[in-house]
Amino acid sequence: MTSLLWLGALAGFSAGACAASADSASAENAATAKAILGDLLAIDTTYEKGTVAAVDVLRKRFLAGGFTESELVVVANPANSTQAHLVVRMKGHGKGKPLLYLCHLDVVAAKPEDWTLPPFAMTEKDGWLYGRGAMDMKSEDANVAAALLRLKHEKYVPDRDIIVDFSPDEEAGGAEGVGWLLQAHRDLIDASLSLNPDSGTAAFRNGRRVFYGVQTSEKSYVTFSAEATNKGGHSSEPRPDNAIYELTAALNRLQAFEFPIRLTNTTRDFYASQAQFESGGRQTAMRALANGDLSAGKELAADPTDNAQLRTTCVATMLEAGHAENALPQRARATIQCRMLPGDTQEQTRAALEKAIANPNIKLTVTRAATNSPESPPTKQIMALYTKVVRSMWPGLPVMPSMDAGASDSKYTRSAGIASYGATSNFFDLEDMRAHGRDERVKADRLAEGAEFAYRLMKAFSGPGAP
Ligand SMILES: [Zn+2]
Repeated sequence: MTSLLWLGALAGFSAGACAASADSASAENAATAKAILGDLLAIDTTYEKGTVAAVDVLRKRFLAGGFTESELVVVANPANSTQAHLVVRMKGHGKGKPLLYLCHLDVVAAKPEDWTLPPFAMTEKDGWLYGRGAMDMKSEDANVAAALLRLKHEKYVPDRDIIVDFSPDEEAGGAEGVGWLLQAHRDLIDASLSLNPDSGTAAFRNGRRVFYGVQTSEKSYVTFSAEATNKGGHSSEPRPDNAIYELTAALNRLQAFEFPIRLTNTTRDFYASQAQFESGGRQTAMRALANGDLSAGKELAADPTDNAQLRTTCVATMLEAGHAENALPQRARATIQCRMLPGDTQEQTRAALEKAIANPNIKLTVTRAATNSPESPPTKQIMALYTKVVRSMWPGLPVMPSMDAGASDSKYTRSAGIASYGATSNFFDLEDMRAHGRDERVKADRLAEGAEFAYRLMKAFSGPGAP
């Protein structure tokens, strides 16, 4: 059904004298993307293995596709050369600063014994392509690489340079990834606008596409340690003061605490649009919320997904305490992770936590500092351009700005002052999210359409009328 719809849309797009050649170019593009995905899935790019082999495979493809050595820069943090970047630059007419794509090549670990299929190979089964990274984000890397190759083949010259950073270290600590490259060699990837196919929501439900969410913002995270200490003693003589009890009392107060509900430009537009997919109380609440009635968010926040959209959250994630079964604890420590709405700061969040815990004896320490990640404005011009490209493929599909509750490499570009937007091309099943999980997969026909979408998006954002 979907492929029929797509063929209809494609025929509409390519109507005219060159319809046949546009269709065959599109099919060739899809085949290239699939082949590149096969190459990438066959390489283990977990942090331990690094990205050198994947960079090498891509570089050879680009050289064979007409890119010159000087358009392909391989660079790595000297502290760890296994974490290689391939920076591809397609020269433009110099009208404005470059357009930058963020494409991480690394994946999270996958144990073969946990999977029903080999994780580090592309297996095609029942119309699906399986392998670690099939969603996150080697299918996106493949679509972006195929788009570059197709544009090169067409002798396309963009208005401004298109830069793609095929990068390492998004899933691990980030010390060698996009954040490092921005600090060490900003000139290589400096841009005025960034597209990140790792983020955004291309939503598929009950066998059809339902909406396209343009990621304009994401929550940033900060991790605290909360620690109670005590002189301890022998467990045969307990006293009222006890590090474990003191900490658990603090955690119980944290459990009862909620940050206030707040809307951003993005979440307001998001709920205004999402209301169309709801009915009854949820629809009424979303409409009221989008009209500024924050109390309407309370009912929605009973759902953890909506709760994450509506407020900053802090939650206990780890606990350690005591040193012997027959000793009073000298130390009890909890890890508390906070996910902050754009605009909230680490210091505000710490102050709110201290107030909630209400015990000056509990020492709060930042163990992972936040990267400031402001919202990239969902402007009319940006949203109109996305809508145009989305609807050239899927007429009438709702397009809206969205905020990710998780974090991506866009935090580095946003923090560096580069407006950054999601650009996912592969529609995924809302009810069956397998990124980072077992038997990760992408639907082969959706990959083919995604490759066409990625090509059109790249052209639209680098040609006349781009923001
Ligand atoms: Zn990712």
